[in-house]
Amino acid sequence: MRIGMDIGGTKVEAIALDDSGAIAGHTRTATVPGADGIIETAESIVAELARQTHRDPHDFASIGIGIPGQIDRAQGLVRHAVNVGIESLPLASLLQERVGVPVTVDNDVTAAAIGAAHLMGLTGSVAYLNLGTGLAAGFVLDGRPLRGEHDTAGEIGHFAVDPLGRLCLCGQLGCLETVASGSALKRFWAGAGEHPGRTLIPAIAAGDADAQQAFDNLVRGTATCVQLLGLTLDPGTIVIGGGLRLLGDPLFGAITHQLDVWADRSPFIAQLQLSARVQRLDDDSPAAAAGAALAAIR
Ligand SMILES: [Zn+2]
Repeated sequence: MRIGMDIGGTKVEAIALDDSGAIAGHTRTATVPGADGIIETAESIVAELARQTHRDPHDFASIGIGIPGQIDRAQGLVRHAVNVGIESLPLASLLQERVGVPVTVDNDVTAAAIGAAHLMGLTGSVAYLNLGTGLAAGFVLDGRPLRGEHDTAGEIGHFAVDPLGRLCLCGQLGCLETVASGSALKRFWAGAGEHPGRTLIPAIAAGDADAQQAFDNLVRGTATCVQLLGLTLDPGTIVIGGGLRLLGDPLFGAITHQLDVWADRSPFIAQLQLSARVQRLDDDSPAAAAGAALAAIR
């Protein structure tokens, strides 16, 4: 039995996976930012999953954690995880000391890619595109994650496509993340509020022109990401997840329409059949937690 945890800016979701890969325990709790809050939350989650699965906490085989930020997997270090209030934290060793179970940490998007492929039963090459606060992709090839030489494979949100575009927090101009992400909606659309994924579609229906512009940017940026993934990795499936997937059918309909418009203009793009490869992660899928559990052994 293995534990997987997805530590995000607002909530921590965790599951226990049995040896067949089925979910045997599940818990969700609010994130307490900062090093102490994260460690204590993680420890209490292990205790809760032990209770749910009728065992001692130290009887779990492994704990895998998916967390945003710069991850050093070999050292179990998390750096610059701004969303959860961590500057630098040896998360793996600190939690391991407390619970007596081997702990690994992984990039949250890579973890979600592994989990999505597992839970959706996808084989071959899979790209996972996370439309969250930020914009990034993760890759799974025949069940194994592709992390790259520096654990930065898939950071396509910082692919700068428009030299006249908006200033990105990374210092470049016109990154894809400046148009296709939750942070972009908040920065550039005054009516976004805390949860633009919930406010955008109603605002468009009410005739808010800025909301329409923000939506159009989001659609074009996301479709560009799908095309970029198609032309580089050529995956069989491109799964779209992240908080903004809650924009639902209007967003997914517009993305596939944009891809089809580009295909109509170019026989080369048309033969890629990109819109047919896009799938949406289920609204309540614990993909990142499941992937974090599996990442401990992959
Ligand atoms: Zn950038």
